[in-house]
Amino acid sequence: MKRMSEFEYFVSVERAIEIASNHPPPLNIENIKIQNLSNRVISQDIPSLITDPPFDNSSMDGYAVKHSDTINASSNNPVSLQIVGISQAGINPLPTLESGQAIKIMTGARIPLGADSIVLIEEAELVNDNTEFGKVKLFFKSRTNYIRIAGENMKKNQIMLEAGEKMDPYKIGLLATMGYSEIPVYSKLRVSIISTGDELVKPGKNLKPGQIYESNSYFLAALIKELGHEPLIIDLVNDDLNELREKMNRAANNSDLIITTGGVSMGEFDLVRKIMEEEGEIKFWRIKMKPGSPPLFGLWKNTPLFGLPGNPISSQLVFLLVVKPWLYNIFGIKAPPHQIIRAKLTKELKKSPDLLLLRRVFVESTPKGMVARPADHQGSGNSSSTVISNAVTLIQPGHSANIGDIIDVLFIR
Ligand code: AMP
Ligand code: MG
Repeated sequence: MKRMSEFEYFVSVERAIEIASNHPPPLNIENIKIQNLSNRVISQDIPSLITDPPFDNSSMDGYAVKHSDTINASSNNPVSLQIVGISQAGINPLPTLESGQAIKIMTGARIPLGADSIVLIEEAELVNDNTEFGKVKLFFKSRTNYIRIAGENMKKNQIMLEAGEKMDPYKIGLLATMGYSEIPVYSKLRVSIISTGDELVKPGKNLKPGQIYESNSYFLAALIKELGHEPLIIDLVNDDLNELREKMNRAANNSDLIITTGGVSMGEFDLVRKIMEEEGEIKFWRIKMKPGSPPLFGLWKNTPLFGLPGNPISSQLVFLLVVKPWLYNIFGIKAPPHQIIRAKLTKELKKSPDLLLLRRVFVESTPKGMVARPADHQGSGNSSSTVISNAVTLIQPGHSANIGDIIDVLFIR
């Protein structure tokens, strides 16, 4: 075998992520309108443009009063206050309040000068005494906690979101509250996906004997979109070195990342491994995980390339355990890439001496705690197992996993 590049062989999942993270593609920054920000990653800390709330305001409909005027109020001995005005959301001017007075107030309206508390409208009785607004009888003490204090949500210039945060609906709402209409984010990575294999046919066509439908590029494209990037699907490639080289060259010209599937094992037709070894730069080959041990990572014409295994489950798990954390690392994304919890195993799983064991399980909450129920068919070609499962086990190399053991599981959806 001709060796053009030195690479690390058979590495742990953590080491695989570390090696690949030393080779990020160039990252660009662009301004994006907040309505288009879902899943995008902000490239700088974001200070608030305003203090919010900008003014003290009421969180309830009721009456703004002085608390000292209401301390003797009870159902037997109501306190009567003269209503001298109304404070309405968004309306000026702001009335002023003296002792013995009340001002009718709406949710979100400014607290009148002199008021320090609110009585709920349903805890008061309006009495018409022929004055402009009438009187109000109070049966309860007023409460200060119905006042939203200026700045309690955020102060002007306070950093509310940090570089590397991935935008979700709540953060997008917060950006609007802070006064931003657009924000700088990292540009989407353009990801070329190349599926290899003579036996593969695009869905929609008829299968001839020996052929199967190509599925890897579809779930990979969907996962890439979910992570805020742009999949460019390239037609599938036969197990032909020249065709593969041409597609990989085109991908290196058009994209920031190349993901191939298939052709990375030891077989004679495993051409991705062969071409990367002879003409590219492999950084690692093979990972200590099961399923999913064959992948490689390297550079093709300076473009990072993950060579994922052809088996659909292996390919999915290598994406989730290595490519996704790599994407988090290179953008400095703060959120944990995995969601790991502890659950009780309901069925024995055969231990694997060298490999991190990833079995598809359905994790659910029961009165006795979280349990992980392994799917029946765990073969790396059984793509139905990831659809009926919601997590995978993380059983460390050499560790056994018996019924009743408390194990780590990683949610995959
Ligand atoms: P390979 O890694 O190329 O040896 O492929 C391993 C297994 O995965 C074989 O059974 C292939 O037929 C299957 N396979 C490879 N690529 C795909 C794909 N894109 N979609 C579905 N199955 C695939
Ligand atoms: Mg193949």
